[in-house]
Amino acid sequence: MCLAHGLRRAGVDVAVYERDRTRATGLHGYRVGIDPHGSRALKACLPPELYRTFVATCAKPPERFAFLDEHLRRTLTITLREPTDDVNDEKSVSRMTLRQVLFTAMEDVLHFDKTFIRYRHEPDGRVTACFADGTSDTGDVLVGADGVNSPVRRQRLPHARLEDAGIVAVAAKVPMTLESTSLMPEGLFPGIGLVLAPRGMACILHWMEFPWAADGRPKAGIGSSDRELLAAWPGLLFDNTRDYLNWGLSASTDKFPADVMQRSGADLVRLVTAMTPRWDARLHRLFALTDASTCFPINIRTSVRVDPWPTDNVTLLGDAIHTMTPGQGVGANTALRDAHNLVRALTSGRPVLDALRDYERDMIEYGFKAVEASKRQTGGDQLVHRPVLGRVALAAQRTFLRATDRIPLLKRRFEAGLYEVRGTET
Ligand SMILES: Cc1cc2nc3c(=O)[nH]c(=O)nc-3n(C[C@H](O)[C@H](O)[C@H](O)COP(=O)(O)OP(=O)(O)OC[C@H]3O[C@@H](n4cnc5c(N)ncnc54)[C@H](O)[C@@H]3O)c2cc1C
Repeated sequence: MCLAHGLRRAGVDVAVYERDRTRATGLHGYRVGIDPHGSRALKACLPPELYRTFVATCAKPPERFAFLDEHLRRTLTITLREPTDDVNDEKSVSRMTLRQVLFTAMEDVLHFDKTFIRYRHEPDGRVTACFADGTSDTGDVLVGADGVNSPVRRQRLPHARLEDAGIVAVAAKVPMTLESTSLMPEGLFPGIGLVLAPRGMACILHWMEFPWAADGRPKAGIGSSDRELLAAWPGLLFDNTRDYLNWGLSASTDKFPADVMQRSGADLVRLVTAMTPRWDARLHRLFALTDASTCFPINIRTSVRVDPWPTDNVTLLGDAIHTMTPGQGVGANTALRDAHNLVRALTSGRPVLDALRDYERDMIEYGFKAVEASKRQTGGDQLVHRPVLGRVALAAQRTFLRATDRIPLLKRRFEAGLYEVRGTET
């Protein structure tokens, strides 16, 4: 959708085909962190008012990032920099809300309930996309932005492979109430908590507080221009997002029962509680307060690097070509970066195939670099998942985090690395 906005603003004729039946269907997960790379792409591609709506619909920005142990004791706290502008900061957004923003004012080019199945090249070189309902559409370029199981990729690059990262995650939402918020360590929120625990278990905690109330009306106390933007934005009619805490527990696949991917709801919440017997009672209470209907398992996969391929007029972006583990929280941001680069290439005035070749050359480089860095951070083959060595690795990790918390030079280095990955301008 970011690509479609950017191309359309540049006067290119675009059509988007989405398999979801309506703009509000599908479970696309809960929270996504948008970093400066992602914001820069959105700002460049979206109409200015829609970009402002995107900013106005984000949750309260995270002010800190804290590493915790399983007793909710902090090992390292990073205070995130104050935003310098509406791009150079960390944003927390609900995936459903971001989708609603991106669908806004695109009704005439967006076709729902269209499942892509294959493409073919026409004698004049143009490309036709065929859909499961028997319809098709022909254009000069086809971009597969169809996610991890991309049928466009399977046809275009049949040799491209995905592998299991050896990690399973379970994610869920807890309604934000006085009780649920009081369970978290003081001063953690608004922010992000990451529990690193024995047996390679990790649990991410996100605070998602929106500028609209349970009845969907803009809350009192938010700026008047944001109030006006929200009141005028038709997307709020389709958005079902209310304040929540989002938790996501992950561990290597062997720590979960073999049938974890078939489990759901309350069963999964019970499983997570049983897997963490020595964790703090506040975390167990948080699990107990979970809206069980929101709980689902994810088998984390990662793309295997593909060598550059001969360019034609079918290309790929985002997870369709470089799926990555959530280790660095940059998968969506890299997809947005692709969209921005592709808009620039296709509107540069150069011959289309030259533009696509340059786009693919750069995208393969930074995309797979991000895949590999994410896997190093969250992969089932990491030392922390091993039976005995894992304890040693966790102890070393905690010592490093505590030392970094106390020694300003180390902390500055740690922060600089974090900001560099996320494209922050300093
Ligand atoms: C637990 C978890 C946490 C994450 N957190 C972050 C984070 O904080 N920050 C971050 O940057 N990234 C994060 N990511 C990664 C991020 O979710 C993905 O990288 C991102 O969604 C990829 O976007 P995409 O547009 O390429 O694909 P998708 O978001 O998967 O979108 C693909 C679209 O194509 C449609 N589609 C699929 N098949 C077809 C078809 N055959 N025909 C028509 N339409 C089709 C789908 O319905 C969907 O709308 C996380 C991932 C996980 C698993």
